Amino acid sequence: MGEPTNAADTLEVDAIVVGGGITGLQAAVDLADSNHQVLIVERDPSIGGKMIALSKVFPTLDCSSCITTPKMAEAAHHPNIRILTWAELDRVTREDGGFRCEVTCKPRYVVAKECIGCRQCEYECPVVVPNDFEGGQGARRAIYIPHSNAWPQVALINLDDCIYCGKCVKVCPTQAVDFGDVPRRVIVRAGAVLVASGYELTSAWRNRRYGAGELPNVIGPLLMERLIAPHGPYGKVLRPSDGRIPDSIAYVQCAGSRDASTGYPYCSRVCCMYAVKQAILLSGSLPLVDITIYYMDIRAFGKGFETFYQDAKAMGIQFVCGKVASITEDADHNPLVRVERKEEGGEITVDRHDLVVLSLGMEPAWKSDGVLEVGHDGYGFVDLPDDHVSPTATDQAGVFVAGTASAPKDIVDSIVEAGAAASRIVGYLRSIGWSVGGGRRPAVPGGEARVGVSGR
Ligand SMILES: Cc1cc2nc3c(=O)[nH]c(=O)nc-3n(C[C@H](O)[C@H](O)[C@H](O)COP(=O)(O)OP(=O)(O)OC[C@H]3O[C@@H](n4cnc5c(N)ncnc54)[C@H](O)[C@@H]3O)c2cc1C
Ligand code: SF4
Ligand code: SF4
Repeated sequence: MGEPTNAADTLEVDAIVVGGGITGLQAAVDLADSNHQVLIVERDPSIGGKMIALSKVFPTLDCSSCITTPKMAEAAHHPNIRILTWAELDRVTREDGGFRCEVTCKPRYVVAKECIGCRQCEYECPVVVPNDFEGGQGARRAIYIPHSNAWPQVALINLDDCIYCGKCVKVCPTQAVDFGDVPRRVIVRAGAVLVASGYELTSAWRNRRYGAGELPNVIGPLLMERLIAPHGPYGKVLRPSDGRIPDSIAYVQCAGSRDASTGYPYCSRVCCMYAVKQAILLSGSLPLVDITIYYMDIRAFGKGFETFYQDAKAMGIQFVCGKVASITEDADHNPLVRVERKEEGGEITVDRHDLVVLSLGMEPAWKSDGVLEVGHDGYGFVDLPDDHVSPTATDQAGVFVAGTASAPKDIVDSIVEAGAAASRIVGYLRSIGWSVGGGRRPAVPGGEARVGVSGR
């Protein structure tokens, strides 16, 4: 990345929302509906967060992208919301009763307002690399639109992949490709800050006991979400080593949660239910598959969760209470799971499966150190000093948090918190007398094209 342009664009809003996942989108829409001006800063090239990549949602099995895309569109088309994607928040300081936020829009090497999302460049680009949106399965080009449901539908180039053949420049019907693109600095004055920066999966990939990152048929749960999704990389579940349809799939619960030795002693709250969900969906798409879930406890605490779990048992999914000690593989890359079975007198067995999914937990996606002054707990989640009565208030006046940025939680709880945070922010802005005036979109010179969300 080169140096930012010297001339910074400026923007004044009521609230800046860090993160365009489901939490940030919901909070932004709630604030905007109350006639407040909102800027969403999203560091990925598309909004939607993790939810846009999920297959279906527990416990209702509703299609995840069918819920997320309307929310993305609502935010993208709201007259009081402005969105900067592919943008990093560099520094937030207090100024004149509010906050001065420095944001860098990273170069896409495609002029957003010229790109019409036609994908001609992708068809011509000769470079094929693993598709990060699909968990490294499937392929994308060096120039690419992040995925079919992305907003904005604007291409970007990964210069590390590019061989500078110029084919995209020649084929683009709007001359949108611009290799001279540079980072753009935007200065935002905001009355309040909402941290909605979400989570990443726990890095149990480094947990060698489970062969994570080394054994090809031991995968993470977000990759399984993509394999199950109807618009996933292959449209069917294939195991990575040889592309074979698996006959036996195992889940290892708490593989990155509730284990002080890995640095994650807490429960990640969603792993039991997403494993049960994936098992149910796999039973539907692969009727002959055997599915085993190795667990310590099943935590089915939410509305409808216990019934969902009982349904899975009734469908023949095997639940084995035990602690998985290690995973190795045989000569055909079949994972071998060594487990101490608690319900069978502590018997130790080694079970062969075709594919193993590690039910990894959640850790914070963003530790704001050096960018935004706000307290964190011992695991890097945003601290809630008074969480019994103010579950979205941080230790800093004017800085709020919602969703998985403060602790692991599911979509429903994240959305509830988003609404709570928006309502707190409205009260806070009123208390400090901050209003930039409603009913108009804050204008950023050279801003992004307004492109709708499309499905496949
Ligand atoms: C495998 C799996 C399956 C799941 N299935 C379900 C399910 O079926 N039902 C359910 O209720 N829950 C499910 N969940 C949980 C669900 O994914 C979360 O509850 C939800 O996505 C939380 O949304 P969020 O907006 O808080 O975080 P995220 O989805 O992580 O969004 C945060 C956004 O912030 C952006 N961001 C991060 N840092 C910055 C920064 N510094 N600057 C700008 N942007 C930033 C990120 O790029 C991201 O777009 C599942 C989780 C997993 C791992
Ligand atoms: S110049 Fe780069 S991005 Fe464009 S077509 Fe060639 S390899 Fe692909
Ligand atoms: S960069 Fe050009 S060719 Fe590629 S999607 Fe945009 S308009 Fe189409």
